[in-house]
Amino acid sequence: MRTPLIVANWKMNKSLKDAEQYGQELLPLLADHSGVEVVVCPPFTSLTVMSRIFAGSKIKLGAQNLFWEMKGAYTGEISPAMLVDAGCTYVILGHSERRQIMGENDTIINRKVRAALDAELIPILCVGETLQERENNRAREVVKEQLTRDLKNITFAPQGLVIAYEPVWAIGTGVNASSDDAQEMIGFIRSYLAKIYDRELANSVRILYGGSVNEENIAEFMGEVDVDGALVGGASLQPNSFAGIVRFK
Ligand code: PEP
Repeated sequence: MRTPLIVANWKMNKSLKDAEQYGQELLPLLADHSGVEVVVCPPFTSLTVMSRIFAGSKIKLGAQNLFWEMKGAYTGEISPAMLVDAGCTYVILGHSERRQIMGENDTIINRKVRAALDAELIPILCVGETLQERENNRAREVVKEQLTRDLKNITFAPQGLVIAYEPVWAIGTGVNASSDDAQEMIGFIRSYLAKIYDRELANSVRILYGGSVNEENIAEFMGEVDVDGALVGGASLQPNSFAGIVRFK
């Protein structure tokens, strides 16, 4: 049984004051809601305040990145232990913005996934193809390569890792993948996990779709057999629209 999971990725948005206001508005909107796990991933600067606001609620906290060492001379970096200390349960890794803008490759992402798991954080590992790769019929091959490299020599417990299929061309563009395309790729990811791990583990791993998800299209994605939830960027920035996505039924 895979509990649906909806994750808000604020990216580099919101002051402390805006974050606090968002938290105060979101809590009552989701107070009586159950059956969906909810995670909010603010920027590092808002983690502690959001952790206090969400304390005692079912909303969990995630970070958008980490560095793989636990402490030391790594100016500007944040360790897995620091994220745990700040109240995080989850961490987004391998997001296409980090791959493309920050130049993170699969070796780096593999180290980060391992470090997250070692610290008992749940990685939300993002994979997905560019438009050109899709047009060249290379989408499956690209996603398979990312999974192979990002998960190299990594083991995890059934609910200990989440995968997000995020086609790069659908992120922040307003052009979402069709639910059929999302199901097709997510079904493929699940079969590939069964091949490199085992069927039981593959059936227990939650696999999300991400890319221009909103209140209007979420139900269609959630109707697909292998889609276990969504990673939401733009539409997660307003408490009302994010709550609308969580309450998709
Ligand atoms: C994302 O940031 O992972 C994302 C999917 O963004 P958006 O929902 O805005 O496409």
